[in-house]
Amino acid sequence: MATDIQLRSKALELIAARGVTITDIGELVLFLQKPYHNDLTLEECIHNVERVLEKREIQNAIITGIQLDMLAEVGQLMEPLQGMIVRDEGLYGIDEILALSIVNVYGSIGFTNYGYIDKMKPGILQKLNDKNNGIHTFMDDIVGALAAAASSRLAHTREE
Ligand code: MG
Repeated sequence: MATDIQLRSKALELIAARGVTITDIGELVLFLQKPYHNDLTLEECIHNVERVLEKREIQNAIITGIQLDMLAEVGQLMEPLQGMIVRDEGLYGIDEILALSIVNVYGSIGFTNYGYIDKMKPGILQKLNDKNNGIHTFMDDIVGALAAAASSRLAHTREE
């Protein structure tokens, strides 16, 4: 069985290798939550992203999605999956389903946040959606979902 440390360090390594920092994700959380908490700092957002990244089911989603993007980038998937992921086909949809497994961990507030950030594509999400920037069919949804999950966590902990 994969150990907790193996999984966690692999997930963090892959996020970094795909050009995304924890600060980038923290900035998305700030974008989502600042309207509701005007004393919110980037540090508090980053703290919540770090807690979300400790969950095993979230690490599993991260390594699965990023692996598929990376294999698509080097043409190693079978058709028609290879083409669907390279073209980020709208009717494929499994990238969003995988992202929902991340959002799901912190309950229903996450779904609204995820839908909103996926539509607005602020910050790092815009960069990931640039077609000249590699294949990020799964990664953009993973990053949006991590921000949404961290936002839900933040909202819940502040309520308590
Ligand atoms: Mg996608």
